[in-house]
Amino acid sequence: MAAWLCFSCGTLNNALKKEKRITCGYCQVETTWPKHDRRRKVANDAVKWGIVHRKLHEADLAKGRKVSYKLREVTELLEAVFWFITVSITGGVTYDIVKACCVRAVNAAREYNQKAKKDAFTPIGTPREIKEVEALIADPEKYEQMRREVEECIKGMPGVDPRVRMAALGRKAEASLRTAKLLAPEKLHR
Ligand SMILES: [Zn+2]
Repeated sequence: MAAWLCFSCGTLNNALKKEKRITCGYCQVETTWPKHDRRRKVANDAVKWGIVHRKLHEADLAKGRKVSYKLREVTELLEAVFWFITVSITGGVTYDIVKACCVRAVNAAREYNQKAKKDAFTPIGTPREIKEVEALIADPEKYEQMRREVEECIKGMPGVDPRVRMAALGRKAEASLRTAKLLAPEKLHR
């Protein structure tokens, strides 16, 4: 069995890897492993490069020097949040609904991590990410900032210094993000 976080509602589901179609037990949205994995990849690139590393590159530029830093990986929790916010931009979904999905996902991540603690496993969300998502839920200003960053990402960062844009996204990721709108779930379920 493999766990997967629904990108339409934030519910944690389990399914066999050999299943042709996988269905969310809460919102009944149906997808496939290849489609889910493709969404995960795009969201992972977006958050890792377009949000986390963008800030580091901007700080480098402001200081006029390269600060060495370690690549920070992101997990399925932030990938899910990326999609919730993307759908809120492309489909006009309200903050309330995004928040409900984030609450479900963050609770699922916490529960999953606790249950799986003793086994070798990949967490659904790191403790740091869980804190970050909790802050988004509690603070509309933080949410607005994240929403702006996601929006800039899926638009290819038009107003951002090209040096930062290239360093943060690169041509490959830029192309991949252009498809984000096409890959986004159709809607979110409260
Ligand atoms: Zn769902």
